[in-house]
Amino acid sequence: MRTTTHDVLIAGAGPTGLMLAAELALAGVDAAIVERKPTQARAGGRAGGLHARTLELLDQRGIVDRFLAAGKTHPRVSFHVPLDISDFPTRHNYLLALAQEKTEKLLAGWADELNVRIYRDCEVAGSACGADGVDVATTQGDMLRAGWLVGCDGGRSTVRKLAGIGFPGWDASTSWIIAEVRMTEKPVLGFHEDASGRHAMSLMEDGETVGVVLAGRDPRATGAPTLDELAAGLKTIYGTDFGVHAPTWLSRFSDATRQADAYRKGRILLAGDAAHIHPPLGGQGLNLGVQDAVNLGWKLAQVVKGVSPAAVLDTYQAERHPAAARVLRNTIAQGVLRRPDDRTPVLGEFVAEMLAMDEPRKRFGAMIAGLDITYATDADQPLVGRRMPDLDIATADGPTRVYALLRDARPVLLDFGGAVDVAGGRVKRVGARSADMCELPCVGTVPLPRAVLIRPDGYVAWAGDGAAQGLRDAMHTWFGA
Ligand SMILES: Cc1cc2nc3c(=O)[nH]c(=O)nc-3n(C[C@H](O)[C@H](O)[C@H](O)COP(=O)(O)OP(=O)(O)OC[C@H]3O[C@@H](n4cnc5c(N)ncnc54)[C@H](O)[C@@H]3O)c2cc1C
Repeated sequence: MRTTTHDVLIAGAGPTGLMLAAELALAGVDAAIVERKPTQARAGGRAGGLHARTLELLDQRGIVDRFLAAGKTHPRVSFHVPLDISDFPTRHNYLLALAQEKTEKLLAGWADELNVRIYRDCEVAGSACGADGVDVATTQGDMLRAGWLVGCDGGRSTVRKLAGIGFPGWDASTSWIIAEVRMTEKPVLGFHEDASGRHAMSLMEDGETVGVVLAGRDPRATGAPTLDELAAGLKTIYGTDFGVHAPTWLSRFSDATRQADAYRKGRILLAGDAAHIHPPLGGQGLNLGVQDAVNLGWKLAQVVKGVSPAAVLDTYQAERHPAAARVLRNTIAQGVLRRPDDRTPVLGEFVAEMLAMDEPRKRFGAMIAGLDITYATDADQPLVGRRMPDLDIATADGPTRVYALLRDARPVLLDFGGAVDVAGGRVKRVGARSADMCELPCVGTVPLPRAVLIRPDGYVAWAGDGAAQGLRDAMHTWFGA
């Protein structure tokens, strides 16, 4: 039997796997994807948008314009009520409405430009992890070998199960049917609320297919619903089944909320839905997966290239597990606020009243947009652990902005006259001038330090005057320099 070898194998060409593969390829690592489906064709309607932090990450790689051109921006995100984020200090102070299949196609196109190999119609069925690599068997009978295997294979992750990683959490308390169908009667477009929950119908792009979401279904239901089950649900809720027929998609989702208890076991890692699932309130799941991928990509690339020890991968779990745990909790809270009983709406009124105030709006808006993430809570410098703002800067090569320096996913030492006396090594060193202050979401205006060390994912590893030992330590810890 033929065995093909790669540095990294990724199970799943969803948004997480595609982003991770591209990040690894950008860093010069041979990463390949094994994807069960034969094509990247649409698999029903799922994520409807990209949040500000995800757009910033795409901007850092120079590809955000492709996404902006394909979608439509909206100034509001949602936590129980719409929250205006148009005054947020980011170039992407909006939600980009963009269907998941379009996001996936654009990511697949980028991965293709970077020569990522995708084994399509190929399903991971078994894996054996040794001291120096992982053997992967597919249901098609192929054998693949890689230094590392990353499960980006969704909520029912085979990789997670093969690795024996636990997935504790909350069982479903309710579920929804989601479908795309034709109707002989006129659909009732928009939301419809009753004692079983909030249902919805919308007309799809072709002007004929109707997207249907029915709430309050059996939490124990498994497998795809039948057309008869959908018709019966419509009849109970709307009094008619609308002559529903010709389904192009029938599925269900629930409020089950779970998180992997380890993001890494030996040479196997998890990212995206394989590592965490939650109800789709606030539209955060895809965004979380893409952000996992960008956090993991450069670290894994450094380990593959021998720049960093495998211990740097422990920071992936240390940083991304809490970030996802927070999203899980905010979706649970939003789910509770939607419970269809007489008293819960009273709580919802108070939450809405609170969120109409400026400070809570900013905090909750930044949380949903992913702009409030802090990876180092004990740092004296407010920038450390936070996303670097995309400042306009003047350099010896002319005016530019910070994110333009991150296109090739290399670490950057920005020297604002800090007399930085440390040799750069792998770190790109850029002398720059900028305003003295910068504004951070949720934090406000802070002084700009004289030197800033930025990781390839755009988070600040170190900030200060450059002379301190701290810079040398940070360069060594993060970039093996
Ligand atoms: C109704 C609904 C609405 C949603 N709305 C939003 C939203 O508005 N915003 C948002 O951010 N998120 C939303 N989400 C969540 C979002 O769809 C997911 O978080 C996202 O798809 C996760 O991406 P992923 O790449 O981690 O996993 P997936 O998208 O599940 O991709 C996993 C891939 O792995 C492949 N695969 C699986 N098993 C194997 C195997 N053994 N071998 C090889 N390949 C395999 C699959 O075919 C698939 O292509 C929504 C979800 C639902 C259900």
